[in-house]
Amino acid sequence: MKFLNQMTLKFDSLSVNEAFARSAVSAFCVQLNPTLDEITDIKTAISEAVTNCVVHAYPNEVGTVEIFVGLTKDCVFVSVKDNGVGIVDLNQAREPFFTTKPDEERAGMGFTVMESFMDSVELLHNKNGGVEVKMTKKIKENKLMAKKEQNV
Ligand code: ATP
Ligand code: MG
Repeated sequence: MKFLNQMTLKFDSLSVNEAFARSAVSAFCVQLNPTLDEITDIKTAISEAVTNCVVHAYPNEVGTVEIFVGLTKDCVFVSVKDNGVGIVDLNQAREPFFTTKPDEERAGMGFTVMESFMDSVELLHNKNGGVEVKMTKKIKENKLMAKKEQNV
């Protein structure tokens, strides 16, 4: 896909980086002039995907998390990738309330949350092992672009 602007972030799977990741992604998306609700939705989805890398992908070690964000005129494309333990059954993992860590107060709702806040969520096996979550969200009204097109 051809993006108007794109960026990649690579960081350690430490929980302290969850807030960093969601702030960095939302700061990048601000150029599409999203509403506060749209930015909050993207932040929530990023948090869930990054938390999964920290908690599940690398349970006993610190690994690398890679986030790619691509922007079109009115859509945000995000990929969150790890090289961790991977998921055997991707469809089962997406089911509401499915968790492999019930003892650690996990609700099994991460993917359900991502699905409800984003327009599309795709779950894939990363080719190096691990998981890739691809998500998109349409930014409804792009006031800045509209202004630019009208030369105001
Ligand atoms: P919650 O997100 O509500 O705290 P959860 O993380 O268990 O609970 P989901 O985010 O929906 O729930 O994930 C479901 C299951 O998918 C997890 O329990 C885990 O087994 C698996 N999973 C999710 N992300 C990854 C990942 N990046 N690597 C390996 N396994 C994962
Ligand atoms: Mg989760």
